[in-house]
Amino acid sequence: MLEDKNPQRTSLSELGEFKLIEHLTHQFKINHKSTILGIGDDAAILTPAKKSIVVTTDVLVEGVHFDLSYVPLKHLGYKAVMVNLSDVYAMNATATQITVSIAVSNRFPLEALEELYAGIETAARIYNVDVVGGDTTSSTSGLIISITAIGEVEDDKVVKRSGAKPNDLLVVTGDLGGAYMGLQVLEREKEVFKVNPQNQPDLSMYTYIVERQLKPEARKDIVELLEQLEVKPTSMIDISDGLSSEIIHLCKQSNVGVDLYENKIPLDPQVISTCEEFNIDSTTIALNGGEDYELLMTISQEDYPKIKANPNLSVIGYITEAERGMHLITRAETKVPIIAKGWKNFNETDSE
Ligand code: ADP
Ligand code: MG
Repeated sequence: MLEDKNPQRTSLSELGEFKLIEHLTHQFKINHKSTILGIGDDAAILTPAKKSIVVTTDVLVEGVHFDLSYVPLKHLGYKAVMVNLSDVYAMNATATQITVSIAVSNRFPLEALEELYAGIETAARIYNVDVVGGDTTSSTSGLIISITAIGEVEDDKVVKRSGAKPNDLLVVTGDLGGAYMGLQVLEREKEVFKVNPQNQPDLSMYTYIVERQLKPEARKDIVELLEQLEVKPTSMIDISDGLSSEIIHLCKQSNVGVDLYENKIPLDPQVISTCEEFNIDSTTIALNGGEDYELLMTISQEDYPKIKANPNLSVIGYITEAERGMHLITRAETKVPIIAKGWKNFNETDSE
């Protein structure tokens, strides 16, 4: 639908690797003092801050993580950066640099890569990270993007997955399930389009959830907010695979249990109405949907007064002793075990 809107097609082989790299990367500006040398040499040079450095990588593969029939390349570039920054923020760190590696087949014209890099550039500018390197290679089939993000955090401010303690509050940012329901809408429209290419989709009822899918925002603002509120979470993780699998990660790595309250899970009205339309349970979507890139954290009860009035932070449960297990307390006040069903890349039987 959205691919190949650009009438111009310059073949990558016309350009050659070095010209291509130069063409795509000349726009990047260096802003951080810690970046001594960016793109252009065999390696970038960074000066170590008197802080801890965090490093994280994510790979996005066409056909597994994205479908170019409804994801505009500019959005894909932006999202690829967000996915990585989200992991940096989940350590309570500030992102400073990224590297971008791509494998691309010659079915992509230069103009397509320009779009991809426009999205990367926008994300890097808005989130203030320097693009300091990468690699460019060919692929026999689809597009692969691998981004590495580097960040810094004062040693005593790092937050790991492993610090949750019994009686801590379980807190989540924003609202959940939107990205997954946005994907359901886009996939439905793709099917309609296959049958009738003249049919232009009307997505006006779904703007919020489609945006959550196509243009997620990593929660840099939350790291700043926590600093302002003088709250250091006891543990934290970003929600890439769905609330239930992230809760399980936190609990296992902290050796604790949890009571999660169904009626406290934050849902946008558009998620609720779209779930009704698709006849799916909205709690199931919030638990298993994934790709929301919100932050899930535990905070000490002492810090409750500092966060309780904040609209960005919802208390959704309590940490318990490990022996109590991990449970969802439903609206009907029954207790059901929390199970991971969040990830479908390797297990096709899980996909809906
Ligand atoms: P080398 O052969 O030493 O790996 P390259 O020719 O691959 O060098 O890269 C030249 C410079 O361009 C390096 O600084 C590298 O980090 C950067 N670079 C290469 N590909 C990309 C890319 N896709 N995005 C950003 N920077 C890139
Ligand atoms: Mg290289």
